[in-house]
Amino acid sequence: MTDDELWQQFQDNYGNEYKPGDLHVWAFEVRDGLYIDGDHPDNIAKFANHSCDENCEAIMDEDRIWISAKCDIANGEELTFDYRFPLKDFLYHPCHCGTPDCCGFIVAKEERTKLKKILRKQAPRRLSKKTAK
Ligand SMILES: [Zn+2]
Repeated sequence: MTDDELWQQFQDNYGNEYKPGDLHVWAFEVRDGLYIDGDHPDNIAKFANHSCDENCEAIMDEDRIWISAKCDIANGEELTFDYRFPLKDFLYHPCHCGTPDCCGFIVAKEERTKLKKILRKQAPRRLSKKTAK
C-alpha cells in the first residue's frame, strides 16, 4: 500500500470521527511511504500485539517481515513486539501491556525516555486543572 491507499483505508474505517485509543492499524511500514496491509485473512501476524517488554522483534528482509523470537517463549505465551510508533502520535495509541516499564503509550523503545519526561512535565498541569474546578 502507498501512503494514499493507507490514508483511504483509514478514512473508510474511521472517517474523521475517532478519539485516542480508537485506532487500530494493521499496516506495517516497510520503507518510506510503502506499507504491507496486515489485515489479510491469511495473515496471523496481525494477532501479535505490542509490548513495552517484547519477546519478539520484527526483522525486515526486502519486502518481507519476519517476527523473530528474542528469547525463549513458552508454549501458549503471547507473541509481542515493539510497534515502533512515532512519539508525535502517542496520544492516539494508549498501551495496556502491563509490563513494569510500560510508559502507558505505544511508542518506539528509543523514544520512551523522552515520552516519560513529557508526561512528567504534563502531570502537574493536569492536576492543577482538576483541582481548579
Ligand atoms: Zn506498554
